[in-house]
Amino acid sequence: MKDTYRHKGLRKRLIDTLYQKGIRDERILQAFNLVPRHLFLDKAFEEWAYTDKAFPIGNQQTISQPFTVAYQTDLLEIKRRDKVLEIGTGSGFQAAILDTLEATVLTVERQELLYKKTSELLFKLGFTNIRTFLKDGMGGLSEHAPFDKIIVTAAASEIPTALLSQLKIGGILIIPIGKERQQMCKIIKESAKQYKRIYLDYFKFVPLLKGLNKD
Ligand code: SAH
Repeated sequence: MKDTYRHKGLRKRLIDTLYQKGIRDERILQAFNLVPRHLFLDKAFEEWAYTDKAFPIGNQQTISQPFTVAYQTDLLEIKRRDKVLEIGTGSGFQAAILDTLEATVLTVERQELLYKKTSELLFKLGFTNIRTFLKDGMGGLSEHAPFDKIIVTAAASEIPTALLSQLKIGGILIIPIGKERQQMCKIIKESAKQYKRIYLDYFKFVPLLKGLNKD
């Protein structure tokens, strides 16, 4: 689990790329500087860890492309101590970025193996404040609701109503919607019954699936 000067240098270049692609929030760029993405990937992909690409992490899942992580994080408008729910823990990288921004992170994964592997990794890397849950995230995490922010990192065909109801008034939900490709949707809860929806750029995510996977 080494983080060398070479890795740090590669991170600087990744940050330049993110900046060129439109990520201008210094705090977010700094978070990418602090989180060693190569440790969230299989050793086989280490060489490419700081290129702006998604990679397989086992169980047919992927670690999102850095730009996608930065884009979703930007939309969340994270403030210190925001209570953030993430649906789709995957590699844990997105959760680590949110934690680095001093949010309180609760993250849900439906695949048991991934949940175990990532929970251990986050702990080993010192992200001891991130709380991981093995659960179908479509229903949210009612026992810990309401949340300031909710981020979904898998493709949904529609907006799960449980997530809307678990958002605080003034809270933000970021969710990619669609089948083949997904449009990023930012939802702001303006009152108990009123939501503002903003549709943004297109991305490609793995699907949000129902139930747990124990294999
Ligand atoms: N945020 C992740 C991206 C992971 S890919 C990262 O930074 O690496 C999406 C993840 O969502 C996968 O691990 C997939 O298993 C998980 N997922 C899909 N449907 C889900 C559901 N209903 N509840 C919780 N997790 C889900």
